[in-house]
Amino acid sequence: MSSSDAAPRRTVSTAGLRLPICATCGVQYAGPRDDCPVCLDERQYVGWEGQQWLTLEDLRAGGRHGRLREEGPGVVGVGAEPSVAVGQRALLIRAPSGNVLWDCVGYLDDDLAARIEELGGISAIAVSHPHFYGVMTEWGRVFDAPVYVHAADRDWVGRPDPLIEYWSGDTHPIAPGMTLINAGTHFAGGTVLHWASDPEGRGALFSGDIFMVVMDRRWVSFMYSIPNYIPERPSTIRRALDLVEPFAFDRIYGAFWGRVVTEDGAGAVRRSAERYLRFVGE
Ligand SMILES: [Zn+2]
Ligand SMILES: [Zn+2]
Repeated sequence: MSSSDAAPRRTVSTAGLRLPICATCGVQYAGPRDDCPVCLDERQYVGWEGQQWLTLEDLRAGGRHGRLREEGPGVVGVGAEPSVAVGQRALLIRAPSGNVLWDCVGYLDDDLAARIEELGGISAIAVSHPHFYGVMTEWGRVFDAPVYVHAADRDWVGRPDPLIEYWSGDTHPIAPGMTLINAGTHFAGGTVLHWASDPEGRGALFSGDIFMVVMDRRWVSFMYSIPNYIPERPSTIRRALDLVEPFAFDRIYGAFWGRVVTEDGAGAVRRSAERYLRFVGE
């Protein structure tokens, strides 16, 4: 058997292990710096002890490990235990045309990479917005996969790399039955992913916190800033509604473990927007 028949060995690079990661938002940068632009922005905050930095090496040495758990049909949650920074989990969408990693986390180690490789690896990565960039460039390099980022959020990318594919416009197909939609709530480049051919055949939307699945999991909300409670603008929400309206979906996968709307997702988005706009006086 030639070496090309074996699954490739996926290992985190030495640079990836040592480049700085913001302890509060989990975004990795291309080199040492004093501040984290993502956290200085009014949608986030600098940690109460001041700006702190970590590396993947520190996280691994501190006992962090990867966590995988099914979050729905054909969808595996990918995170760290204990969680890193904001605490979101990514999602491995197991499509017949190749797995897509939706969103990212501020963590990766060789064991986690090997477990993902056993599930078929990653053909492409797509991210919702800067708070969930994590160590996406390292994930892209380890799996030799493009990372789709909306061009409107280009300046937020902490570790630029040729593998990052900046897309523009309202929608962008990345695989059969998989479409990125620039909903634009929370961030100008805020992206959700529609999967038409999920195993149940009902459609699924992956929303990060662009449409935030809330504690009552029949609903979502739309926030400009979640930690600082700044509401989103009605005109921006109406544009997002128009863009997702043509897409059918039952499930909505939000940003955190278990935050999943399991039925009538399209109706949930519509009703949630109507409720929101009623409360802000429109
Ligand atoms: Zn930060
Ligand atoms: Zn966010």
